[in-house]
Amino acid sequence: MITMGLLPAGEQLNFQDSQRHAEHIRRQGIKQFINIYNRNKDRIDRCFKWGDEMEYTIVRFDHNSNKVRLSLRSEELLNIMYEREEREGENRRVLWRQESGSFQIEATPGQPYGYNSDLNDKNSMNNLFNNVENQMRERRLDIRGLLHEDEAILCLTNYPRMGCADTTVPNTKPDPLNSMSGSIFLSDDHISHLNQKYFIIEKYFNERIGHKVAINAPIFKDTKTPDPFIEFFDHKEAMRAAKVDHIYMDSKIFGNGCSCLQVTMQATDVNEAFILYDQLAPLTPIMMALGASTPIFRGYLSDRDGRWDVIVDSLDDRTPEERGEKPLKHNKYRIQRPRYSAIGAYLCESNQSYNDSPIVYNKDYYNELIGSGVPPPLAQHIAYLFIRDPILISSEKLDQNPETESDHFEAIQATNWQSLRFKPPPLNQPAIGWRVEFRPMEIQMTDAENAAFAVVTILLSRIILKYKLNFVIPITKIDENMSTAQKRDSVNRCKFWFRKDIFTRNTPLFVNGFNDNHVIYDVEEESYIEMSINEIMNGYEQEFPGLIPLMKDYVNSIALDAQTYGKVQQYVQLIADRASAKLPTPAQWIRDFVRKHNTYKYDSVVNEKITYDLLNTLNRIQNECLNVNELIKNN
Ligand code: ADP
Ligand code: MG
Ligand code: MG
Repeated sequence: MITMGLLPAGEQLNFQDSQRHAEHIRRQGIKQFINIYNRNKDRIDRCFKWGDEMEYTIVRFDHNSNKVRLSLRSEELLNIMYEREEREGENRRVLWRQESGSFQIEATPGQPYGYNSDLNDKNSMNNLFNNVENQMRERRLDIRGLLHEDEAILCLTNYPRMGCADTTVPNTKPDPLNSMSGSIFLSDDHISHLNQKYFIIEKYFNERIGHKVAINAPIFKDTKTPDPFIEFFDHKEAMRAAKVDHIYMDSKIFGNGCSCLQVTMQATDVNEAFILYDQLAPLTPIMMALGASTPIFRGYLSDRDGRWDVIVDSLDDRTPEERGEKPLKHNKYRIQRPRYSAIGAYLCESNQSYNDSPIVYNKDYYNELIGSGVPPPLAQHIAYLFIRDPILISSEKLDQNPETESDHFEAIQATNWQSLRFKPPPLNQPAIGWRVEFRPMEIQMTDAENAAFAVVTILLSRIILKYKLNFVIPITKIDENMSTAQKRDSVNRCKFWFRKDIFTRNTPLFVNGFNDNHVIYDVEEESYIEMSINEIMNGYEQEFPGLIPLMKDYVNSIALDAQTYGKVQQYVQLIADRASAKLPTPAQWIRDFVRKHNTYKYDSVVNEKITYDLLNTLNRIQNECLNVNELIKNN
C-alpha cells in the first residue's frame, strides 16, 4: 500500500542523523522540484496513457488441517522477478514491485495502456481499454510457476486474521520487547525485508512519536457479541490504547498490509493535471464506498467496510505537539492531517475558495517556489508536502545536483500518501508527463471487478474533461464523505455530499478582483446537497443526470470495436449495479459469507475455519474455477 520507488544506494541514515540533515534535504528537494516544474511547465503530451497498480496477498493453504496462513515469501519472489525484468527489458509484460508486507506483492503492466497509440490511429481508444482485464489475468500466470504447492496470490484487501496466533508460514511470534515494531500481535517478519526499506520506516515512526501506533476500528455488534466489547491484554500500553467496543491494532503493518487498487493517468499539460486532481477529489469517497471490501480486522467483524482510516491511523507520525495536544515547543507546526490522508486542498486557482480546511505549509519554501514561477496553489501544495521529514536518506546522496537529480524531491513526495497524488514528470524518464494518481480504491475480489473499477476511473476522468464537469465541494465535505464511505453498507445506507449542478464549470461566478484567467467560484451553501450513491451514479428524475448515463454517452461517442465496447459497457454496468444495490460490494459479500458460515457463533469472531473457507472460495473464484455471477452480473 505504500510504495516508494527503489532505495538509493549507500548506507541509510538512522533517525538522529537524518534529523540533522532534514532541512538540507528539503531545501534541495524544493530546488529539484522548481527545476522539474520549469522544464515541464509548457510540456504537452497529446497521447493519453494510463496504468493500474494492484497489490496481492500471498497465502498458503493447509488443506489437511483446514488452515490458511500468510506466506512470507515476497522477497524470494521479487528477486526472481527483478532478474527477469533485467533480462527481458521492455518486453517484460508485468512489473512486480515491493510492498510493505513480506506477504505482499504489487504488479503493474509492463507498459502503460495506450502507450503505443498514435494520436491519429483510429484504434487508439481500443488500446486504452481492451487489454486491462487480460493484463490482470496475465499477472497471475506470470507468477504462478514460482508459487509453492498450495500457495496462492489473492486479491484481498487484508488477511482477515492478521495478528492472530499461528497465521504465518514460516511460523513467527510477536516479540514486543525486542522487535522493531514492538507489536504484541505481529512479528517483524511481517515487514518486507528486502533492502531494509520498510524496517527504516518502522523505526523512523516509532522514534519520532516515541511509542507504537494505536489503531482502533469499531467492532460489529452481532447478536452474541459481548456488550460492551472489551479485550484484555497482558500489556500496559495496549490496555491504555485499546478502546472499548473497538478492535485494537498496534503496528503499521495492519494498515500498510492492506492492499489497494491505484490508477495513474497522464494529463495533456500541467493545467489539465490540476483540473483532474480537483475534479477527481470529490469522487474519491464515492469510488471507495462502491468498492468497499474490508469488513474484518484481527479476526473480528468490524462495523466498517473500508480500510482507509486504519491506514491513516497506522501512518500517523505527528507528535502530540503537532496534533495540538501540547503547546508547540520542539516542533514547528500544528498539523491537521497525518501523512496518509485525503487531500487537503484543491490545485486550480478557480477552486481556492473551496479550500476550507486549514493548511499548514512552510512559508520560506512557498516564497521560493512562487519566486520561481510556480503557481500559488501548487506552491502551497509542495510547501505542505515539505513540512514532513525525509525518512529514507542515503549517506552517499546527501548533496545532489538539482539540475540532474531529483531524489530528495521524490523522497518527500513519495512518503506523503494522499488520496490523490499529483505526479510531475520524472526527471530521468522523458517519455512520462504530468500525471494524477487516484489512490482511494480497495482491491476487488476478481480481475473483472478490478478492471471495471480501473476503467471506470478513467471514464470518469474523460467525462470530466469532455463535458467540463464540476464536482467541487468544500474540502471538509470530502473529509466527511471519506468517513461516511467506510461505514458498514455505506454504499446503500448513507448519503454523501455532492455538487447539485455539475455543469457549472463553463459559467462560473465572477468575483471582483480576479482577472479572466483566475475565475473563482463563490462557496454557495446551496451548491451541494446530500445524495445517495445510487442517485449520484444512476441519476434521479430531472434533478441530477447521474455519472453512469454520462459515462454511457461518452462511451457511445468514441470509436471502440464491438468487443471492447461490450467489455466497457459491462464495466460501467457493474458500477451502476453496485450503486443500486443489485450487486453486493466485496465487504457485503464477505460479511455475509462469515455470518452464514456454520461455525460462526454470532459473536463477531472470524475463526480459522471460516477464514480457510473464505480464502479457499476466493482462490477458486479468482482462478476461475468457481462461478462468480453473483459478484459481477445482476440477473
Ligand atoms: P507509484 O508506486 O509511484 O504510484 P508505479 O511505478 O508503481 O508508481 O506505478 C505507476 C503506474 O503508472 C503504472 O500503472 C504504470 O503503468 C503507469 N504509467 C507509466 N507511465 C505512465 C504515463 N506516461 N502515463 C500514465 N501512467 C503511466
Ligand atoms: Mg507502485
Ligand atoms: Mg501508486
